[in-house]
Amino acid sequence: MNILLVGNGGREHALAYALAKSPLCTRLFTAPGNPGTARHGENRPELDVADHGAVRAFCEAERVGLVVIGPEAPLVAGLVDDLTRAGIRAFGPTRAAAQLEGSKGFTKALCSERGIPTAGYGRFAALDPALAHVRAKGAPIVVKADGLAAGKGVTVAETVEQAEGALRALFADAGAEVVIEECMFGEEASFFALCDGTRAIAMGTAQDHKRVFDGDRGPNTGGMGAYSPAGIVTPAIERTVMETIIQPTLDGMRARGTPFTGILYAGLMLTADGPKLIEYNTRFGDPEAQVLMPRLASDLVPALLSACDGNLAGVSLEFDASRAALTVVMAAAGYPGTVVRGSTIRGIADAERDGALVFQAGTRAEGEAILADGGRVLAVTALGDSVLEAQARAYAAVARIDWPEGFCRRDIGQRAVAREVA
Ligand code: ATP
Repeated sequence: MNILLVGNGGREHALAYALAKSPLCTRLFTAPGNPGTARHGENRPELDVADHGAVRAFCEAERVGLVVIGPEAPLVAGLVDDLTRAGIRAFGPTRAAAQLEGSKGFTKALCSERGIPTAGYGRFAALDPALAHVRAKGAPIVVKADGLAAGKGVTVAETVEQAEGALRALFADAGAEVVIEECMFGEEASFFALCDGTRAIAMGTAQDHKRVFDGDRGPNTGGMGAYSPAGIVTPAIERTVMETIIQPTLDGMRARGTPFTGILYAGLMLTADGPKLIEYNTRFGDPEAQVLMPRLASDLVPALLSACDGNLAGVSLEFDASRAALTVVMAAAGYPGTVVRGSTIRGIADAERDGALVFQAGTRAEGEAILADGGRVLAVTALGDSVLEAQARAYAAVARIDWPEGFCRRDIGQRAVAREVA
């Protein structure tokens, strides 16, 4: 079967690596792709994935039997809806189902309706009632943008004044909507489930590192590294998450007439009262895919096909339970601010010599050379019998990359390692 993968990040390189391994995969196309995905198939940079008619024509011409969508934007743009309508199998949620990621207010309402454990909240469309709410509740309290103001982020306010400041900034935009949440306490973990509209199967756990500098300092980023599994998510917690969070979400989406098919990525807070939902994403994480895919022992393709066909009954996904994976993101100097593009990266083959995997994100090829072409540039992944071993191997591989213009955090996985050696 020919497969089209949409996207061009490190996540897509990891997905290309997993898809191309399948005996079912005849040709793998990636649009637009990057030099990393080109190692596993053929890039199609000329195919404009925002032009759904062009994607459909490409699938028909190349007899594509499965389209796998990496990033959120094409999901929100309704690529799955348009391809499905044309009779082309596309893995991922419809535009309506992708609201689980796109609208915090939508997800909170679904949680209330289904009794899904999450932070208590209020939703506000005007400043004064929002201010009154934070004054009544007190701090710490969490202020989040929703709807039109989305992208302005999340403030975990330590004081009422800080919360008021965040609200004033958000409501400076006309039409803003805000969600104000109770502050939850605990360790965070990422939980992945493969969903077919009705059922879900667990698809691994991970923990990521969002801040740019060691010790979780500095501004937030897309993610500076991750490891999998998240040891803190025990089999008992996994069952609780499936029963109290994932399955009720699928039931709620189906009842609304917008069943969820694809990857449901739950950001969890493991509180003293059990796991609670922080937020949903409706696709694989980046860099979480770079640690999940190398641990996946099962063939990814039949599982994705079964999900698309609404038929996950009897499907199981095996992960290499005895092995941990850890990825270190190498970013261009200046990230997450402005970065300089075009510096040369050497040593990728050396880094991979002892079994590490170098997933490429913001890179471009110029002849034989690989050049930096974005903020997050490489995700250097290694497996090990423990997080400690995976960490040592990943950093040994990082040391072989010759790229003076790049940097990485030096403490990826530290918390899990500390737990292992305790
Ligand atoms: P992203 O998608 O980049 O993770 P986002 O802007 O969608 O971020 P959330 O994931 O909802 O926002 O929140 C970002 C972070 O803020 C969480 O990872 C968590 O650390 C913190 N946070 C969010 N909500 C709460 C809460 N209710 N209590 C405590 N911390 C929270």
